[in-house]
Amino acid sequence: MGVSAAMVINLPFDVTYIIDTLEKNGFEAYAVGGCVRDSLRKEIPDDWDVCTSALPGQTAQIFKKHHIIETGLKHGTITLMLRHKPFEITTYRVDGKYKDNRRPETVRFVDVLKRDLARRDFTVNAMAYNPKTGIVDYYGGALDIAEKRIKCVGNPDKRFKEDALRIMRALRFAAVLGYDIEENTANTMIKNRGLLKNIASERISAELNKLLLADNIRRLLAAHLPVLTEILPELEPLIGFEQNSVYHAFDVMEHTLRSVEAAPKDLTIRLAMLFHDIAKPGCYKLSEKGASSFRGHEGVSADMSREILNRLRYDKETSKIVTGLVLCHGIDLDPNHRSVKRWLGKLGETQLRRLLLVKKADNAAKSEHFREKFPDNTAIISTLIDIIIEQQQCFSLKDLAVNGKDLIAAGITDGAQIGKTLNALLEMVVDEKIENDKEKLLKALQESPRFDIDPPPVYN
Ligand code: ATP
Ligand code: MG
Repeated sequence: MGVSAAMVINLPFDVTYIIDTLEKNGFEAYAVGGCVRDSLRKEIPDDWDVCTSALPGQTAQIFKKHHIIETGLKHGTITLMLRHKPFEITTYRVDGKYKDNRRPETVRFVDVLKRDLARRDFTVNAMAYNPKTGIVDYYGGALDIAEKRIKCVGNPDKRFKEDALRIMRALRFAAVLGYDIEENTANTMIKNRGLLKNIASERISAELNKLLLADNIRRLLAAHLPVLTEILPELEPLIGFEQNSVYHAFDVMEHTLRSVEAAPKDLTIRLAMLFHDIAKPGCYKLSEKGASSFRGHEGVSADMSREILNRLRYDKETSKIVTGLVLCHGIDLDPNHRSVKRWLGKLGETQLRRLLLVKKADNAAKSEHFREKFPDNTAIISTLIDIIIEQQQCFSLKDLAVNGKDLIAAGITDGAQIGKTLNALLEMVVDEKIENDKEKLLKALQESPRFDIDPPPVYN
């Protein structure tokens, strides 16, 4: 363990330039962290970070010909722009005392790479590389990559107490990399999970998002449920909650995790899966005949999702999409033209297509018996959407051949009545009872001038 000159990493041209330039000026410099980890995993890193013995002011001076962004200066970081790509160059550092389980109070610069690596979270993230020295690996990161293991650098209890966000980061890296969490690290995460309450919601949701988009999250989350329920206590009652239904093969939590994993890697869809049945335990009813039901759980789950997403500081748009999907996840979509047009009108194309993905993932996590009885119809519905859109068929008020002005011209002056009439005409068009033709619609209006159909409910 320590330094291994044998291993060669192909550095991008710009990184070689940064390291060479710093070295020519008498400083040490290494590629460090995620880029070394991903190179050893034979993956192409997203971005390359460099650490150096040069102080930020010295680095800035050395690269003064280039565009430099100094936003991270107080943490010793400058961002160097080369050919429109950002490279973070950070002075070696050891963090000072941690107080609020999050941020170092002071950052002292030290001239020692080993101590810089010691403050990093996990062994796989605590390696450095430069062409002269080779891999610098004091904490066994290369072995942990080979054995697919997330393990704290140093004493896990101390490391999680310094910064509780690392608890979420451990889960996230394990999920994204497909690794297990080393036993001592895992037990200590659970022991310290209460400290997550000191972490800003935005930082927790940023980690949750990356975690949710990983490939194999079911097994990982199932193995570390107390961490998940620490940030989402509303999920706790789902654990082991039996559904007593031939349509379900798993308890609500297991079903939930399976549905998340079955969903495509799209954040709104995966969040919707995570929350879609969250109100089931609270809505459970057993009839005298012994039949179980969760009637109304969709609406309550949608309300709970809105509250959770708000608490975790998700943006309004994400919240609207996710709660809308949770609310609609139980509707039966009939694979016929008229029904699809009706749902297109209520939800819009994008949201209806999302709902298909939600239903597919939900069904994939139910019982074999369910799938035999209700074969997947989402592909047919998707094709019907294609046809309706391609043929520009009318399914919403904006496609209708008459508008409010036409109705005013036809003598309807009451605002509420205009709305009701337009919706009634739209429904006739969608039901294919009348053509979407201005003259024909106005004629129908003359024949039966009062329509009393209220606008459809809003599904988000
Ligand atoms: P990716 O960018 O692919 O998510 P990464 O490893 O680059 O992965 P970052 O969050 O960008 O992760 O952090 C860069 C490096 O900084 C990490 O590899 C790790 O060495 C260190 N690091 C980041 N956050 C922490 C933390 N909370 N505690 C300790 N070290 C950290
Ligand atoms: Mg990074």
